[in-house]
Amino acid sequence: MLSRRGSDAGFRWGCKLGLGFVTLEILLLFLYLETKTAAYIEEHHTHDPGRGNENIVSHSCIHDQILEQRKKPGHKIYSVTPQVYQESTTSKPLYRRGRALLGLSTFSVKQREAKQPIRIYLNYDAVGHSADRDCRNVGDIVKLGEPPVNSVPGSPLCNVHGEPPVFGDCWYNCTLEDISGEDKQQRLRKALGQTVEWFGKALAVEPVRGNLRLSGYSACGQDGGVQLPREYVEEGVANVDLVLLVTTRPTTGNTLAWAVACERDQWGRAIAGHVNVAPRHLTAEAETLLSATLIHEVMHVLGFDPHAFSHFRDERKRRRNKVTEQAMDEKIGRMVTRVVLPRVVMHSRFHYGAFSDNFTGLELEDGGGRGTSGSHWEKRLLMNEIMTGSVDTRSVVSKMTLALLEDSGWYEANYSMADHLDWGRNQGTNFVTLPCNLWKGAYHCNTSQFSGCTYNREAEGYCPIVSYSIDLPHWAQYFPQANKGGQSSLADYCTYFVAYSDGSCTDANSARPPDRMLGEVRGSDSRCMSSSLVRTRFMRGSTAQGNGCYQHRCVNKTLEVAVDGMWKACPEMGGPIQFPGFNGDLICPAYHELCSTVTMPASGQCPNSCNFNGDCVGGQCHCFLGFQGHDCSNRSCPGQCSGHGQCLANGMCLCDDRYAGIDCSTEVCDEQCSLHGGVCDNGKCEFRCSDYAGYTCQNSSVLLSTLSKCQDVLEIGHSGQHCAPSEPSVLQQLEEVVVMPNYHRLFPGGARKLINNLFHKQYDCDAAAKKLACWISIQKCDKDGDNRLRVCHSACQSYNKACGASLDCSDLTLFSGENEQGNQCTGSDEVSHIKPPRALDAIKQMLLMYRCRE
Ligand SMILES: [Zn+2]
Repeated sequence: MLSRRGSDAGFRWGCKLGLGFVTLEILLLFLYLETKTAAYIEEHHTHDPGRGNENIVSHSCIHDQILEQRKKPGHKIYSVTPQVYQESTTSKPLYRRGRALLGLSTFSVKQREAKQPIRIYLNYDAVGHSADRDCRNVGDIVKLGEPPVNSVPGSPLCNVHGEPPVFGDCWYNCTLEDISGEDKQQRLRKALGQTVEWFGKALAVEPVRGNLRLSGYSACGQDGGVQLPREYVEEGVANVDLVLLVTTRPTTGNTLAWAVACERDQWGRAIAGHVNVAPRHLTAEAETLLSATLIHEVMHVLGFDPHAFSHFRDERKRRRNKVTEQAMDEKIGRMVTRVVLPRVVMHSRFHYGAFSDNFTGLELEDGGGRGTSGSHWEKRLLMNEIMTGSVDTRSVVSKMTLALLEDSGWYEANYSMADHLDWGRNQGTNFVTLPCNLWKGAYHCNTSQFSGCTYNREAEGYCPIVSYSIDLPHWAQYFPQANKGGQSSLADYCTYFVAYSDGSCTDANSARPPDRMLGEVRGSDSRCMSSSLVRTRFMRGSTAQGNGCYQHRCVNKTLEVAVDGMWKACPEMGGPIQFPGFNGDLICPAYHELCSTVTMPASGQCPNSCNFNGDCVGGQCHCFLGFQGHDCSNRSCPGQCSGHGQCLANGMCLCDDRYAGIDCSTEVCDEQCSLHGGVCDNGKCEFRCSDYAGYTCQNSSVLLSTLSKCQDVLEIGHSGQHCAPSEPSVLQQLEEVVVMPNYHRLFPGGARKLINNLFHKQYDCDAAAKKLACWISIQKCDKDGDNRLRVCHSACQSYNKACGASLDCSDLTLFSGENEQGNQCTGSDEVSHIKPPRALDAIKQMLLMYRCRE
């Protein structure tokens, strides 16, 4: 019943002269393109030595490239569809009444309204149903990306091994393994089912009340996307917070899958996404890799995406003004983008033991002109974390990734679902702030001549150093020879020990047999250690020089190691020990390296780790809003709930109806705001130009030359700025796709036009409709150069007068208030400009109309 009400409201809107649709279209066009932030071109494909060289099969994510593609003019559109939530203003009165009748206390209701495990719905309808993109028979030639429109099918043919490689916007030649048969689909359903289950445990979300509604205006997703099922648009989907539309189209190289969000709610949270998994990789052997890959890809849909960042909310439910920070880093020698979200910073500090204020944020994979644009963590710093640019079977989900999603304001993370990330743990602030050639210990190697222990001592490894045909970027020149460096561009060409394929100390099955002459043992409790041990009367072979796998245990706060079954205690700080029957030394690691299960007491550590309710800098807790005490252990009602709520005994605010946020300081907007594509920020319905992909506030005189239909309309008040697509070709599309449909709705043909011509001759309805269409579609910007200015109230009135229409001019989300002046709204001085049409024009118009109707 409640959801019916919601839909009725939506329908009423659609009826008002189709204005709901008008605005929807404006909105859609505004969302046509991604924000243009990164101008550089992806290039790490051409000489990334990291790919293929690694001995572990991995998934290379192409999310950055997809975002780059979505910036191009075309049909890839995000849409915004507002949802009804438990705390929605329109639903409140109903709930209120219900509560009173049922005699429930408001508090218990509030508790029930809290975040619930996220419900993700998987739709497989599109699997195998796209004729030009799905492989059905061997030898089928299908589209990958968007091959040039005028190209002959089959050219260019995708070829990753070509020079240059062709891997996107090309024609793909299907092989047997690209066809998704029953067995592959079974595997896909199982893997995706587990992924959805995992997220249900890891993330909670404010549940959508009633059915999740989708707009279905365009195909959802990438590479042609997926058309939403009709019933999703008309009826909605019950008991769901996010719909994932699944396809099984081929990909190139070692990209197993990709995924993008395609619809967001009024708060920016993804409510629909497109996930594509390549059949070629749906094999029994790739099962573990597939699981990791799917978690990675769904993370992108949920919010690990630079586009989503601009919608993130803080604890006051206001839009965050800072998610990332870009700066020239003198130490690293290049531009660096860091995530500065509070929980990300906090969990990073505890992970790295970086409690100095020199650590300001966690780096994203984007700097150095490598063309990626911030969809992943920097591999140099997070190595096998699941949200780095390449995923393999060792990938783990860290608290930092969960923190990023929690800091979006949309989710609550369950940190017990995070895995243990070893890389960088307790390495201190220097690890995150210095270039990798200055790293200490096992994290750095500088000659390929010797083997060594990998950073976590779980394997013996080698130090891969590659000589490239060209010089490395300046900041990556760690060697005197400018073309020498590590094998992975994602990891900034850093050089570190990489495990031999048979080098594991812990997995006896995959490793080579232990060397009895060295007293080695492989198994779950063995670790790699430096050693010159060799049985007396034997010589060490040069290949096995330097290290081996030895058992270890932690007893009575002491690290003990065993050689040939004999246990010996190590010095606490590590160092050489000897064993009878062996020549040489075994070099013990320090106690904390192998035995410390909790965070190592690092300098600057805070009491009780601030209970993870605050940032810890130099031993002092800086509690997050809503927490207090020296260790942030107490909850507090911030600002006494700003006078707009009740402070409950547990320190949480219970806000009045019209307020939200942790301190009840944020005003809630009228629901009409989101229906018009506005974003509510603290009670103000904002129509920000920068919210819409590819749009900026630009000097109007620059725009005029590119406009054909609206040129004369906007010329009137051409001083100042208008919000429009920054690319001329898209601006022209705007006129075709948005202005003209708006115009046709405001000045419909047929009988109405005829009536209009007969009875409202004295006013030029045609001109008024055109003006209004232009003003609605290309609005002026305010002085600050971001907010769009609503269309002037007087413009709406003049249109009504000229056309005998009854457009609701009091709608403050579209039109300004009656008293607003010309410089505060778009299209102020139209009244005096409406001229009565000359008789000849009226006749011409009639003729035109007849011609059109034929
Ligand atoms: Zn990715």
